[in-house]
Amino acid sequence: MDIFTLALIIVFAIALILFFLRIYTLYKYFRIGRNINRFDQAGKRFLFMLYDTLSQACSRRHKNYYPGFTHFIFFWGFILLFPSIMELILGPIIGFSWEFLGTPLYQALFFAQDAIVVLIVIALAMAFYRRYVIRPYYIENSFDALLILILVTIIVITITGYKAFQIAIAGTYPAYMPLSLFFANLVRNVPDKTFWLYFFYWFHLGTILFFLVYIPYSKHMHLIASFPNIFFKNNGPRGELSYVDLEKSEKIGVNDIRDLTWKDYLDGISCTECGRCTQNCPAYQTEKPLNPKNVIHTVKYSLFHNAPLILEGKNDTVPLISEKQDHLSITPEELWACTTCGSCIEHCPVYNEHLQKIVDMRRYLVMNEGSMPNELADAFKNLERTGNPWGFPSVKRGSLAKSKNIKTFKEQKAEYLLFMGCMGAYDSRYRSAVEAFIEILNKCGISFATLGNEETCCGDMARRSGNEYLFQTLAKKNIDAMKKYGVEKIITMCPHGYNTIKNEYPQLGGNFKVYHYTEILQMLLRDGKIRLKSSGERAVYHDPCYLGRYNGIYDAPREILEKCTYLLELEKSRTESFCCGGGSGRFLMEEKGKRINEERGRQIVEKGVNLVAVACPICMLMLEDAMKSLHREDISIKDISEIIFKNIEINTQKDEII
Ligand code: SF4
Ligand code: SF4
Repeated sequence: MDIFTLALIIVFAIALILFFLRIYTLYKYFRIGRNINRFDQAGKRFLFMLYDTLSQACSRRHKNYYPGFTHFIFFWGFILLFPSIMELILGPIIGFSWEFLGTPLYQALFFAQDAIVVLIVIALAMAFYRRYVIRPYYIENSFDALLILILVTIIVITITGYKAFQIAIAGTYPAYMPLSLFFANLVRNVPDKTFWLYFFYWFHLGTILFFLVYIPYSKHMHLIASFPNIFFKNNGPRGELSYVDLEKSEKIGVNDIRDLTWKDYLDGISCTECGRCTQNCPAYQTEKPLNPKNVIHTVKYSLFHNAPLILEGKNDTVPLISEKQDHLSITPEELWACTTCGSCIEHCPVYNEHLQKIVDMRRYLVMNEGSMPNELADAFKNLERTGNPWGFPSVKRGSLAKSKNIKTFKEQKAEYLLFMGCMGAYDSRYRSAVEAFIEILNKCGISFATLGNEETCCGDMARRSGNEYLFQTLAKKNIDAMKKYGVEKIITMCPHGYNTIKNEYPQLGGNFKVYHYTEILQMLLRDGKIRLKSSGERAVYHDPCYLGRYNGIYDAPREILEKCTYLLELEKSRTESFCCGGGSGRFLMEEKGKRINEERGRQIVEKGVNLVAVACPICMLMLEDAMKSLHREDISIKDISEIIFKNIEINTQKDEII
């Protein structure tokens, strides 16, 4: 064995040892977390991971074409240059070469490598330009980020230099390597070509091996961790929060790194720091203290700080929640600023789960410390006493339905249960939306009934605000009543109720077929049971977070509205929709500084329409409030059921809808 090969083996072995030592350390850290089963559907998970990473769909989602392109090129650059790296290392050691592929494939591989080097240079220029000239506010220009761009630059320069001198020394003219050949022609007359060949070889290899060791010690750990993170992503409904066994759990919620799961840790080290969650968070956009990226980072920093202490048996760990704002802890103020809109999860390219962590920490505050904003404390008391957050008498819950002569399930069995929800049952403004929907159902001959006063709040607000006990109490009460009357199909007015009953009641044994009322309207329209005339009014539709992002219902409301209005799209719509600011009980709470609903209101005003269609009572409340604050009460906020009812064609002779 010559000295060159020996040196290569030693350097390669040291790099591998350092790499795996770090991986082993991380593995030990991960073992301090709680377990969670994410090994189900392994085949499906694996195929999705392959598709998502190879196609780089994660980078292209949400029209992020600029960073998406650079990321795509870097990823495929690594894939295509990897065979070269293998050959450079294993060639001298065991004589490995890709020539066994046969001439056409071998030449195609080297052509692809030359082509990708050109694309990497373009992507590098774009990345430098974006980071240091455009400088988006949501990405940090850390030393780590600069170093990685410098390393990639060195890698493409040295691989091209190495190949150029290799060709020049061999005296060949391989047309299938046009870039390398171009540089080879430039260096054919350079003296000491062998020296330069070794120079580029070692510089290239040294950079690659440094990169290998550096990755797991740096923020670029995501280059490795994002693969398993995509594999282990949440495959359940997005709107489903984790179940808590209240009888068996000694501690509810999270305030210590050990209360989180290994998947939460994986989220932390998979974060690419792209800032898309920050860029799309309505709380951050309105200058609240919450930044979803920091939630993920706090988990990572807390793990790196506390795990070694825990493994050494020390108890002086730093809690995850603290009034002191630093990189190891999150403040209660940050936690309560979240509207649970789900936009951070929607936009994260590596499928991180911000919201469960936020709610878990709220659970700790509420269930263990009894700590929450005053408005929430009042709402919880009212929910306990009366089953609605304002404290209206529970015996009045069924009044609206009764006034419309709607039977209760106790009086008469029906095909559908119309779940009124708190706003539907008590809110004076939302009343007209419910009445309109009831009229449509009646005229279409749909068999439906309510639970009357036996209905209570669905529990969404309590759960997302951290009061798991109250949620389960309310949910069980509803489930018991629904089961008692043999309810199978449920229509909800509110997307929050829809999400909770559909996705979370099954955790407590409540399995029903659940429809949002817009799905029923779509069905009636498609079946020809209702026909709409177009008012031609210019309108926009505001996607509620819990209907759109949480449950993927984007088309039903649009299909209906297109039949009776001149429907335009807001800049931020569908998956990009901007929250109204009212989720998880925020509609009851004081909002300091810039208001989220007014920000959404301004986006609507810019569109120049007079009609805004909503499909959620909380959105209606928040957007009407926004229009008042912006002195634009000429823009009317209407529920879809109200718009439909106004534009429905009725055969008056038969007194039925034609
Ligand atoms: S759920 Fe919405 S408000 Fe909460 S952190 Fe995510 S983006 Fe921000
Ligand atoms: S959590 Fe996801 S979206 Fe947010 S910065 Fe990290 S990778 Fe980007």
